[in-house]
Amino acid sequence: MIRSLALALVAIPALASAQTPAAVSAADPYFKAGEAALARQMAVVPNTGKAKNVILFLGDGMGISTVTAARIYDGQQKGLDGESNSLSFEKLPYAALSKTYSHDTQVTDSAAGITAIMTGVKTRNKIIGLSGAAIGGRCESEKGTAIQTLAELAKLHGKAAGAVTTTRVTHATPAGAYAHTAYRDWEGDADMPAAAKQAGCKDIARQLIEAPEALRMDVIMGGGRSRFLPKGQDVGARADGRDLTAEWLKARGAGSAYVTTVDQLKAVPSDTRHVLGLFAPEHLPYEVERAKLGQGVPTLAEMATAAVDVLSRNPNGYFLMVEGGKIDMGSHLNNAKRTLTETVEFSKAIAAVLAKVDLKDTLVVVTADHSHGLVISGYSARNAPILGVAGNEGDPVRGGDGKAYTTLMFVTGPGGPKGTDTRRDPAKEDTEDAEYLQDSVVNLPSSAHAGEDVGVFADGPQAYLLRGVVEESYIFQVMRHAFGFDGSAAAKTR
Ligand SMILES: [Zn+2]
Repeated sequence: MIRSLALALVAIPALASAQTPAAVSAADPYFKAGEAALARQMAVVPNTGKAKNVILFLGDGMGISTVTAARIYDGQQKGLDGESNSLSFEKLPYAALSKTYSHDTQVTDSAAGITAIMTGVKTRNKIIGLSGAAIGGRCESEKGTAIQTLAELAKLHGKAAGAVTTTRVTHATPAGAYAHTAYRDWEGDADMPAAAKQAGCKDIARQLIEAPEALRMDVIMGGGRSRFLPKGQDVGARADGRDLTAEWLKARGAGSAYVTTVDQLKAVPSDTRHVLGLFAPEHLPYEVERAKLGQGVPTLAEMATAAVDVLSRNPNGYFLMVEGGKIDMGSHLNNAKRTLTETVEFSKAIAAVLAKVDLKDTLVVVTADHSHGLVISGYSARNAPILGVAGNEGDPVRGGDGKAYTTLMFVTGPGGPKGTDTRRDPAKEDTEDAEYLQDSVVNLPSSAHAGEDVGVFADGPQAYLLRGVVEESYIFQVMRHAFGFDGSAAAKTR
C-alpha cells in the first residue's frame, strides 16, 4: 500500500507537463465551465427561512424538450451559441422532476394539473379546485368536493393574491388560483348548459367576481373580456345581461382599477391595491402576432411586474401566479415557432420579476402542468437553426420517403398527413415562417399533451425541498410550507 502511494506521489510532477491528460482537460473550456458551475453550486446555502411571498411561474405545456429548444432558439436570436445558452429560470439553483399524471389519466390536462399544484390534491381532467370525488361536467358533484387553493390560503392569512396570464383569465390555469368547477369550459354563463345553471353552479368569471372579500383575488390580468360583459356591450358574450367589470369595481371600491390597455395599466395610481386587467376579448395574441394584433396589449413581463408592484403594497406579502399560457397553444397547433417565442417571453417575464424581488423572502417556483409531444431529432450541426431541417446545410438527412424532416417535430396534431395525403418535404418549405406547422406522425385537430415528467426550477425560502423526482401535488406542499401554513386549520371555506 505504502509503496504504491509513494510511486503515485512520484508520478504527479510528470502529470503537470503540457502533454498530460490532466493539463489538457484543465485548459478545456467545457472543463473550466464545469469547475465554475461546481463552485457556484457549492456556494449555495439552502434558505430555510419563511417566505413572505410565493410566485409560481407556470409554463403551460412546457415540457423538457420545449425548454431545450427554446433555450437554443433564444440563444440563436441573440447571436449566441444556442445550445449552451440558458433561459432565465435555468439558472436557478434547485430543480426537480414532477410526475404530472392526473387522478384519472396518464396524461393530464391543464385543469387537473393546476389543481394538483394549487391544492396538493390530484383530480380528474377537466376539473378545477375540486377533489377526485367530483365528476367532470356534473354540477352536483361540486358540493362537498371544493379544496382550498394556495391563493385562497394566502388570502385567509392576510396576504394579497393574484394571477396573470396570456390566456383568458377564466382559462383553466389562472382559474386554478380561485375557481372551483366541475367543468373547465364553464368560463362564462353562455358556456354552461341550462341544467348546470339551474342547479346553481356558477361560471368561472362569476366565481372570480363574486368571491367573498376574504378570498377575492387582488390582481387579475390577461384576456377574456367577453366573459365579463353582457352581449351587445363591447365584446360581451354573457347571456345574463351582467357587466361583471362594473360589479367588481363597485364591490372593490377605492384603490381599484379596471384596465383594458397597457397604457391604462401603466397609469394606475401608485396606491392601487386591486387591478382587473382584461386586455383582449379572448386569449391575448401570440407574441409573433404582436405587430398585427397586439396594439395596447401588455407583455407577460409588463403584467407580471405590475402585479408584483400592486401586490407588494400588502405588508403581509402575497401569492402570485404567472402563466405563459400560449406555449401550450403553439404546440397544440404544431407551430414550433409560436411555442418557442412564447417560452422566450415566459423566460423574460421571470427575469423581469427576479430583478424586482428579494429571494431572501420570496420563493420563486417555475414549472409546467404537463408536457407536449415535441421532439428534437438529430443530427444537425452545432448552431444549425433550431427551426430548420435536420442534417447539414444544403444536405438534409432524408427519410425512407426521400424527404427531409425538421429538427423539431410533434407526435400528434394538425401538421400530420390526413387521409391519403403524403408528407410534405420541409427541405422545400420555409420552416422558420411564423405560420409553418411542423410535421406530426398522427393527424389530430389539436396536438395531444404528453405524459413524461416536467421540470421544476426554484430559488428562495425552502426551495431546496424541490429536489429529486416528486409528485406534481408535492409542489403545493413546498409552497405552503414556505409560507409557514403547514397544519394551519382549513378555516373558512366558501
Ligand atoms: Zn393544452
